[in-house]
Amino acid sequence: MKRLLITIDGPSGAGKTTVSRMLADRLGYRYIDTGALYRGVALATLSSGLNPDDDEGLFRLFNTLKLKFVPGEKGLRLFLNGSDITDRIRTPEISMVASAVSAKQVVRDYLLNLQRDLGRDKNVVFEGRDMGTVVFPDADLKFFLDASLQTRAKRRFKELSSTTPQSLEVVETDMRRRDTNDSTRDLAPLKPAKDAVRIDSTDLTIEDVVDRMVSAVNALT
Ligand code: C5P
Repeated sequence: MKRLLITIDGPSGAGKTTVSRMLADRLGYRYIDTGALYRGVALATLSSGLNPDDDEGLFRLFNTLKLKFVPGEKGLRLFLNGSDITDRIRTPEISMVASAVSAKQVVRDYLLNLQRDLGRDKNVVFEGRDMGTVVFPDADLKFFLDASLQTRAKRRFKELSSTTPQSLEVVETDMRRRDTNDSTRDLAPLKPAKDAVRIDSTDLTIEDVVDRMVSAVNALT
């Protein structure tokens, strides 16, 4: 079978993580969550006491930073300078700081090379915001997964309820703000690649979405 590099972009709460993981499982591919890398940078920025607007400080920080994925029992775990940060980066505070630092050139440059290195061997599903547009413009297959804001907020509300509960209103407001940050920034804004297969998951089950993706893969191989 042909070795493929597959990208899945879209706004937060569209279901990217679940379907990316399932698609990778069905194909026997690796799954890379690039949002985790931006969250890792956000955590490193906060821990170092740096102001996210301090470009030179960030640049110096990146010279010493060791951010890498390590295989775990259930997929890849993210390590920052030797510590497993996979679970610590899932807070609303880190989401906001990740969205802020991701608008910075110095951050995107740092993560661009790291992400391209991870894609070298193909047989991989990359999930993010600019995978099909900027990081892998020559990807073999690109998806753009979307859903209505209300649906996405409800899904995120449920997800957070067991760890960091927040009201549905707060979740929806944060999500709208992040959507605006991510899609209006100058660098690598969130938008579908011209050649992306667009899927709206508002009225679809996860299985439906994955089935559609697998059909698109089968049509290629
Ligand atoms: O996907 P997740 O919500 O974990 O991503 C956190 C933040 O990282 C997003 O809001 C976005 O600002 C940023 N991000 C990005 N480009 C990517 C992945 C994530 O700018 N490829």
